[in-house]
Amino acid sequence: MHLVELLAARSRPAAALLMTLTRRCPLSCAHCSTASTMAAEQLDAAPLTAFVATFRPGDRPDHLLLTGGEPLLRPRLVKDIADLARAAGTRSQLLTGMFFARGGPVPAAVADALAAVDHVAASLDVFHEAQVPRARVFCALRGLLDAGKDVSVQVTGLGPDDPYLADVTGDIRRTFGDRVPVLVAEVRAAGRAAQWLSAVRHDDAPRGAAPSPRRPASPCAMAAWPVVAFDGTVVACCNQDVVDGRAGHLPGHLRIGHVAEDDWPTVRRRVVGRPLLRGIRAFGPQYLADALAPAADSGAGCAGYCDTCVSALDAPGAAAAADAFLRRPGTRVLEREITRLVEEGGADGFLARHTVAAYRGLAALGAPAGGP
Ligand code: SF4
Ligand code: SF4
Repeated sequence: MHLVELLAARSRPAAALLMTLTRRCPLSCAHCSTASTMAAEQLDAAPLTAFVATFRPGDRPDHLLLTGGEPLLRPRLVKDIADLARAAGTRSQLLTGMFFARGGPVPAAVADALAAVDHVAASLDVFHEAQVPRARVFCALRGLLDAGKDVSVQVTGLGPDDPYLADVTGDIRRTFGDRVPVLVAEVRAAGRAAQWLSAVRHDDAPRGAAPSPRRPASPCAMAAWPVVAFDGTVVACCNQDVVDGRAGHLPGHLRIGHVAEDDWPTVRRRVVGRPLLRGIRAFGPQYLADALAPAADSGAGCAGYCDTCVSALDAPGAAAAADAFLRRPGTRVLEREITRLVEEGGADGFLARHTVAAYRGLAALGAPAGGP
Protein backbone atom coordinates (compact mmCIF):
# COMPACT_ATOMS: atom_id res chain seq x y z
CA MET A 1 0.00 0.00 0.00
CA HIS A 2 1.64 3.20 -1.20
CA LEU A 3 1.41 6.44 0.82
CA VAL A 4 -0.55 8.25 -1.92
CA GLU A 5 -3.33 5.64 -1.76
CA LEU A 6 -3.84 6.61 1.85
CA LEU A 7 -3.67 10.34 1.20
CA ALA A 8 -6.11 10.06 -1.70
CA ALA A 9 -8.75 8.82 0.75
CA ARG A 10 -8.10 11.54 3.38
CA SER A 11 -11.30 13.49 2.79
CA ARG A 12 -13.61 10.46 2.36
CA PRO A 13 -15.72 10.02 5.53
CA ALA A 14 -14.90 6.82 7.44
CA ALA A 15 -12.46 5.64 4.76
CA ALA A 16 -10.00 5.05 7.60
CA LEU A 17 -9.77 4.72 11.36
CA LEU A 18 -6.84 6.00 13.41
CA MET A 19 -6.21 3.90 16.49
CA THR A 20 -3.84 4.94 19.27
CA LEU A 21 -2.60 1.72 20.88
CA THR A 22 -0.69 3.34 23.72
CA ARG A 23 0.48 6.72 24.90
CA ARG A 24 3.73 5.16 26.11
CA CYS A 25 6.98 5.62 24.23
CA PRO A 26 10.62 4.81 25.01
CA LEU A 27 11.81 7.95 23.19
CA SER A 28 11.40 11.48 24.52
CA CYS A 29 11.24 13.81 21.50
CA ALA A 30 11.08 17.50 22.43
CA HIS A 31 8.32 18.12 19.86
CA CYS A 32 6.14 15.13 20.80
CA SER A 33 2.51 16.11 20.15
CA THR A 34 1.25 13.40 22.53
CA ALA A 35 3.76 14.25 25.32
CA SER A 36 4.47 10.53 25.55
CA THR A 37 6.51 8.91 28.32
CA MET A 38 6.95 5.32 29.51
CA ALA A 39 4.65 6.11 32.44
CA ALA A 40 1.75 7.27 30.25
CA GLU A 41 -1.62 5.55 30.02
CA GLN A 42 -2.79 2.78 27.73
CA LEU A 43 -6.06 0.91 27.34
CA ASP A 44 -6.34 -2.86 27.79
CA ALA A 45 -5.88 -4.81 24.57
CA ALA A 46 -9.25 -6.58 24.71
CA PRO A 47 -11.59 -3.65 23.86
CA LEU A 48 -9.30 -2.60 21.01
CA THR A 49 -9.18 -6.05 19.39
CA ALA A 50 -12.91 -6.56 20.04
CA PHE A 51 -13.66 -3.32 18.20
CA VAL A 52 -11.56 -4.25 15.17
CA ALA A 53 -13.29 -7.64 15.19
CA THR A 54 -16.54 -5.78 14.34
CA PHE A 55 -15.13 -4.87 10.90
CA ARG A 56 -16.96 -6.86 8.20
CA PRO A 57 -16.01 -7.28 4.53
CA GLY A 58 -19.10 -5.27 3.61
CA ASP A 59 -18.72 -2.63 6.35
CA ARG A 60 -15.20 -1.72 7.39
CA PRO A 61 -12.74 1.12 6.92
CA ASP A 62 -10.45 0.74 3.92
CA HIS A 63 -7.46 1.71 6.06
CA LEU A 64 -6.48 1.32 9.70
CA LEU A 65 -3.70 3.57 11.00
CA LEU A 66 -1.96 2.32 14.14
CA THR A 67 -0.20 4.99 16.15
CA GLY A 68 0.73 6.05 19.67
CA GLY A 69 2.92 6.88 21.54
CA GLU A 70 4.90 4.00 20.14
CA PRO A 71 2.55 1.22 18.95
CA LEU A 72 5.42 -1.26 18.68
CA LEU A 73 5.62 -1.30 22.50
CA ARG A 74 2.60 -3.63 22.06
CA PRO A 75 3.79 -5.80 19.16
CA ARG A 76 1.37 -8.67 19.78
CA LEU A 77 -1.53 -6.24 19.81
CA VAL A 78 -0.29 -4.72 16.53
CA LYS A 79 -0.17 -8.15 14.93
CA ASP A 80 -3.55 -9.26 16.30
CA ILE A 81 -5.22 -6.07 15.11
CA ALA A 82 -3.53 -6.10 11.68
CA ASP A 83 -4.57 -9.74 11.18
CA LEU A 84 -8.18 -9.03 12.20
CA ALA A 85 -8.31 -5.99 9.93
CA ARG A 86 -6.89 -7.89 6.96
CA ALA A 87 -9.46 -10.67 7.41
CA ALA A 88 -12.18 -8.04 6.82
CA GLY A 89 -10.33 -6.46 3.87
CA THR A 90 -8.86 -3.46 5.74
CA ARG A 91 -5.22 -2.56 5.10
CA SER A 92 -3.08 -1.29 7.95
CA GLN A 93 -0.37 1.32 8.34
CA LEU A 94 1.86 1.62 11.40
CA LEU A 95 3.61 4.85 12.43
CA THR A 96 6.74 4.27 14.50
CA GLY A 97 9.55 6.32 16.01
CA MET A 98 11.91 3.41 15.11
CA PHE A 99 13.17 2.87 18.70
CA PHE A 100 13.89 -0.76 17.79
CA ALA A 101 16.57 0.38 15.33
CA ARG A 102 18.82 1.88 18.05
CA GLY A 103 20.99 -1.23 18.21
CA GLY A 104 20.99 -4.96 18.82
CA PRO A 105 18.72 -7.50 17.17
CA VAL A 106 15.10 -6.57 16.51
CA PRO A 107 12.94 -8.53 19.00
CA ALA A 108 11.03 -11.35 17.30
CA ALA A 109 7.64 -9.98 18.38
CA VAL A 110 8.47 -6.57 16.87
CA ALA A 111 9.60 -8.23 13.61
CA ASP A 112 6.30 -10.18 13.53
CA ALA A 113 4.31 -6.98 14.06
CA LEU A 114 6.21 -5.19 11.27
CA ALA A 115 5.56 -8.14 8.98
CA ALA A 116 1.84 -8.11 9.81
CA VAL A 117 1.04 -4.54 8.71
CA ASP A 118 0.74 -3.40 5.09
CA HIS A 119 2.78 -0.21 5.44
CA VAL A 120 5.38 1.07 7.88
CA ALA A 121 5.81 4.84 8.24
CA ALA A 122 8.95 5.99 10.09
CA SER A 123 9.20 9.36 11.84
CA LEU A 124 12.41 11.25 11.19
CA ASP A 125 13.50 14.71 12.36
CA VAL A 126 16.24 16.28 14.47
CA PHE A 127 14.51 15.19 17.67
CA HIS A 128 14.31 11.54 16.62
CA GLU A 129 17.83 11.58 15.23
CA ALA A 130 19.16 12.68 18.63
CA GLN A 131 17.95 9.30 19.95
CA VAL A 132 18.00 6.96 16.94
CA PRO A 133 20.82 7.64 14.46
CA ARG A 134 19.73 8.22 10.88
CA ALA A 135 21.99 5.47 9.57
CA ARG A 136 20.26 2.92 11.84
CA VAL A 137 16.82 4.06 10.69
CA PHE A 138 17.93 3.71 7.06
CA CYS A 139 19.33 0.25 7.76
CA ALA A 140 16.02 -0.89 9.29
CA LEU A 141 14.04 0.60 6.40
CA ARG A 142 16.33 -1.14 3.92
CA GLY A 143 15.56 -4.47 5.61
CA LEU A 144 11.81 -3.81 5.40
CA LEU A 145 12.04 -2.79 1.73
CA ASP A 146 14.08 -5.89 0.90
CA ALA A 147 11.37 -7.98 2.58
CA GLY A 148 8.81 -6.43 0.22
CA LYS A 149 7.20 -4.08 2.76
CA ASP A 150 5.81 -0.70 1.65
CA VAL A 151 7.45 2.02 3.72
CA SER A 152 7.45 5.81 3.92
CA VAL A 153 9.18 8.46 6.00
CA GLN A 154 7.40 11.27 7.82
CA VAL A 155 9.80 14.18 8.16
CA THR A 156 9.12 17.31 10.21
CA GLY A 157 11.00 20.59 10.31
CA LEU A 158 10.64 23.92 12.07
CA GLY A 159 9.53 25.68 8.87
CA PRO A 160 9.74 25.56 5.07
CA ASP A 161 13.30 26.97 5.13
CA ASP A 162 14.63 24.64 7.81
CA PRO A 163 17.90 23.36 6.26
CA TYR A 164 17.32 20.00 7.93
CA LEU A 165 14.51 19.30 5.46
CA ALA A 166 16.75 19.65 2.38
CA ASP A 167 19.48 17.62 4.04
CA VAL A 168 17.39 14.66 5.16
CA THR A 169 15.16 14.43 2.08
CA GLY A 170 18.24 14.53 -0.17
CA ASP A 171 19.79 11.76 1.88
CA ILE A 172 16.63 9.62 1.71
CA ARG A 173 16.42 10.03 -2.08
CA ARG A 174 20.09 9.13 -2.59
CA THR A 175 20.02 6.19 -0.20
CA PHE A 176 16.87 4.57 -1.53
CA GLY A 177 17.04 5.64 -5.18
CA ASP A 178 13.68 7.45 -5.02
CA ARG A 179 11.83 4.30 -3.95
CA VAL A 180 10.68 5.65 -0.59
CA PRO A 181 7.93 8.30 -0.40
CA VAL A 182 8.45 11.16 2.04
CA LEU A 183 5.78 13.29 3.73
CA VAL A 184 7.25 16.61 4.83
CA ALA A 185 5.39 18.77 7.35
CA GLU A 186 6.09 21.43 9.94
CA VAL A 187 6.18 20.76 13.67
CA ARG A 188 2.75 21.48 15.19
CA ALA A 189 2.28 23.47 18.38
CA ALA A 190 0.82 20.54 20.34
CA GLY A 191 2.03 18.48 23.30
CA ARG A 192 5.65 19.22 24.30
CA ALA A 193 6.17 21.46 21.23
CA ALA A 194 3.45 23.84 22.46
CA GLN A 195 5.80 24.90 25.28
CA TRP A 196 8.57 26.22 23.02
CA LEU A 197 7.46 26.44 19.38
CA SER A 198 6.00 29.96 19.44
CA ALA A 199 9.32 31.27 20.80
CA VAL A 200 11.11 29.76 17.79
CA ARG A 201 8.58 30.87 15.16
CA HIS A 202 8.13 34.61 15.00
CA ASP A 203 5.44 34.61 12.36
CA ASP A 204 2.57 33.37 14.55
CA ALA A 205 -0.71 35.18 14.02
CA PRO A 206 -1.62 37.34 17.01
CA ARG A 207 -3.83 35.41 19.41
CA GLY A 208 -7.30 36.75 20.07
CA ALA A 209 -7.40 38.75 16.82
CA ALA A 210 -10.90 39.90 15.94
CA PRO A 211 -12.62 37.61 13.48
CA SER A 212 -13.55 38.98 10.09
CA PRO A 213 -17.27 39.64 9.86
CA ARG A 214 -17.83 37.05 7.12
CA ARG A 215 -15.73 33.97 7.28
CA PRO A 216 -15.42 32.00 4.05
CA ALA A 217 -16.11 28.29 3.63
CA SER A 218 -12.99 26.26 4.40
CA PRO A 219 -13.74 22.50 4.45
CA CYS A 220 -12.23 20.41 7.24
CA ALA A 221 -11.06 17.08 5.79
CA MET A 222 -9.77 16.13 9.24
CA ALA A 223 -13.37 15.50 10.30
CA ALA A 224 -13.50 12.52 7.92
CA TRP A 225 -11.49 9.86 9.77
CA PRO A 226 -12.45 8.95 13.36
CA VAL A 227 -9.72 8.50 15.96
CA VAL A 228 -9.60 6.07 18.88
CA ALA A 229 -8.11 8.13 21.73
CA PHE A 230 -5.89 6.79 24.50
CA ASP A 231 -8.83 5.88 26.75
CA GLY A 232 -10.84 4.19 23.99
CA THR A 233 -13.10 7.16 23.28
CA VAL A 234 -13.72 7.53 19.56
CA VAL A 235 -13.48 11.18 18.49
CA ALA A 236 -14.19 12.87 15.17
CA CYS A 237 -10.73 14.15 14.24
CA CYS A 238 -7.02 14.03 15.03
CA ASN A 239 -6.80 17.51 16.58
CA GLN A 240 -4.60 16.60 19.56
CA ASP A 241 -6.57 18.81 21.96
CA VAL A 242 -9.72 16.94 20.96
CA VAL A 243 -8.01 13.53 21.25
CA ASP A 244 -6.70 14.47 24.69
CA GLY A 245 -9.91 16.13 25.84
CA ARG A 246 -7.89 19.28 26.49
CA ALA A 247 -10.73 21.40 25.19
CA GLY A 248 -12.06 21.15 28.77
CA HIS A 249 -14.82 18.80 27.85
CA LEU A 250 -15.36 16.89 24.63
CA PRO A 251 -18.09 18.61 22.59
CA GLY A 252 -20.95 16.24 21.78
CA HIS A 253 -20.55 16.54 18.02
CA LEU A 254 -16.88 15.48 18.25
CA ARG A 255 -17.54 12.46 20.52
CA ILE A 256 -18.39 9.59 18.23
CA GLY A 257 -18.50 6.77 20.78
CA HIS A 258 -16.25 4.32 22.64
CA VAL A 259 -14.59 1.09 21.52
CA ALA A 260 -16.04 -0.74 24.53
CA GLU A 261 -19.61 0.34 23.73
CA ASP A 262 -19.90 0.74 19.98
CA ASP A 263 -19.08 -1.29 16.89
CA TRP A 264 -17.60 -0.08 13.61
CA PRO A 265 -20.93 0.19 11.74
CA THR A 266 -22.25 2.50 14.50
CA VAL A 267 -19.11 4.64 14.43
CA ARG A 268 -19.22 4.82 10.61
CA ARG A 269 -22.91 5.85 10.59
CA ARG A 270 -22.28 8.66 13.09
CA VAL A 271 -19.22 9.96 11.23
CA VAL A 272 -20.94 9.92 7.84
CA GLY A 273 -24.37 11.12 8.89
CA ARG A 274 -24.05 13.52 11.84
CA PRO A 275 -25.19 16.90 10.48
CA LEU A 276 -22.60 19.02 12.33
CA LEU A 277 -19.79 16.82 11.02
CA ARG A 278 -21.20 16.96 7.49
CA GLY A 279 -21.30 20.75 7.77
CA ILE A 280 -17.77 20.97 9.18
CA ARG A 281 -16.43 18.73 6.39
CA ALA A 282 -18.15 20.69 3.63
CA PHE A 283 -18.04 24.29 4.88
CA GLY A 284 -15.59 24.37 7.79
CA PRO A 285 -16.49 25.32 11.38
CA GLN A 286 -16.35 29.11 11.00
CA TYR A 287 -18.63 29.37 7.98
CA LEU A 288 -20.99 26.87 9.61
CA ALA A 289 -21.05 28.75 12.93
CA ASP A 290 -21.88 31.98 11.11
CA ALA A 291 -24.63 30.26 9.11
CA LEU A 292 -26.16 28.71 12.23
CA ALA A 293 -25.78 31.69 14.55
CA PRO A 294 -29.39 32.90 14.67
CA ALA A 295 -30.87 29.53 15.62
CA ALA A 296 -27.98 27.99 17.49
CA ASP A 297 -26.85 30.97 19.55
CA SER A 298 -23.45 30.48 17.99
CA GLY A 299 -21.63 33.34 16.40
CA ALA A 300 -18.35 34.80 15.36
CA GLY A 301 -17.04 35.21 18.89
CA CYS A 302 -14.29 32.64 18.41
CA ALA A 303 -11.42 33.66 16.19
CA GLY A 304 -9.75 30.31 15.59
CA TYR A 305 -10.76 27.56 13.19
CA CYS A 306 -10.74 24.66 15.65
CA ASP A 307 -11.63 27.01 18.55
CA THR A 308 -14.89 27.75 16.76
CA CYS A 309 -15.53 24.05 16.26
CA VAL A 310 -15.09 23.09 19.91
CA SER A 311 -16.92 26.09 21.37
CA ALA A 312 -19.47 27.79 19.10
CA LEU A 313 -20.62 24.56 17.46
CA ASP A 314 -21.09 23.00 20.91
CA ALA A 315 -23.81 25.55 21.71
CA PRO A 316 -27.29 24.30 22.62
CA GLY A 317 -29.34 23.87 19.48
CA ALA A 318 -26.37 23.73 17.12
CA ALA A 319 -27.01 20.13 16.06
CA ALA A 320 -30.68 20.81 15.26
CA ALA A 321 -29.78 24.02 13.43
CA ALA A 322 -27.15 22.17 11.39
CA ASP A 323 -29.71 19.52 10.48
CA ALA A 324 -32.15 22.20 9.28
CA PHE A 325 -29.37 24.07 7.43
CA LEU A 326 -28.23 20.94 5.59
CA ARG A 327 -31.80 20.08 4.58
CA ARG A 328 -32.17 23.30 2.58
CA PRO A 329 -32.08 22.47 -1.14
CA GLY A 330 -29.44 25.12 -1.89
CA THR A 331 -27.20 23.90 0.94
CA ARG A 332 -27.50 20.30 -0.24
CA VAL A 333 -26.37 21.27 -3.73
CA LEU A 334 -23.43 23.20 -2.29
CA GLU A 335 -22.50 20.35 0.08
CA ARG A 336 -22.54 17.84 -2.78
CA GLU A 337 -20.45 20.06 -5.03
CA ILE A 338 -17.86 20.96 -2.36
CA THR A 339 -17.60 17.31 -1.30
CA ARG A 340 -17.05 16.28 -4.91
CA LEU A 341 -14.35 18.92 -5.42
CA VAL A 342 -12.56 18.04 -2.16
CA GLU A 343 -12.62 14.30 -2.93
CA GLU A 344 -11.43 14.92 -6.49
CA GLY A 345 -8.53 16.89 -5.00
CA GLY A 346 -7.39 13.56 -3.53
CA ALA A 347 -3.83 13.28 -2.31
CA ASP A 348 -2.84 16.59 -3.96
CA GLY A 349 -5.54 18.43 -2.03
CA PHE A 350 -4.30 17.03 1.28
CA LEU A 351 -0.67 17.73 0.44
CA ALA A 352 -1.45 21.33 -0.57
CA ARG A 353 -3.04 22.08 2.80
CA HIS A 354 -0.92 20.12 5.23
CA THR A 355 2.62 19.72 3.94
CA VAL A 356 5.59 21.89 2.99
CA ALA A 357 5.10 23.03 -0.61
CA ALA A 358 8.69 22.62 -1.80
CA TYR A 359 8.69 18.94 -0.83
CA ARG A 360 5.14 18.01 -1.86
CA GLY A 361 6.20 15.87 -4.82
CA LEU A 362 8.21 13.55 -2.58
CA ALA A 363 5.03 11.89 -1.29
CA ALA A 364 4.64 10.19 -4.68
CA LEU A 365 8.16 8.75 -4.87
CA GLY A 366 7.99 5.07 -5.75
CA ALA A 367 4.26 5.21 -6.57
CA PRO A 368 3.14 2.64 -9.12
CA ALA A 369 2.56 4.13 -12.58
CA GLY A 370 -1.12 4.98 -13.12
CA GLY A 371 -1.78 4.94 -9.35
CA PRO A 372 -4.07 7.39 -7.51
S1 SF4 B 1 8.70 8.67 18.93
FE1 SF4 B 1 6.74 9.71 18.58
S2 SF4 B 1 5.49 9.23 20.38
FE2 SF4 B 1 7.63 8.80 20.90
S3 SF4 B 1 8.37 10.68 21.90
FE3 SF4 B 1 8.92 10.78 19.70
S4 SF4 B 1 7.21 11.92 18.75
FE4 SF4 B 1 6.48 11.20 20.77
S1 SF4 C 1 -12.40 21.96 12.75
FE1 SF4 C 1 -13.26 20.57 14.31
S2 SF4 C 1 -13.30 18.57 13.31
FE2 SF4 C 1 -11.91 19.87 12.11
S3 SF4 C 1 -9.85 19.46 12.98
FE3 SF4 C 1 -10.69 21.27 14.05
S4 SF4 C 1 -11.66 20.46 15.92
FE4 SF4 C 1 -11.38 18.73 14.48
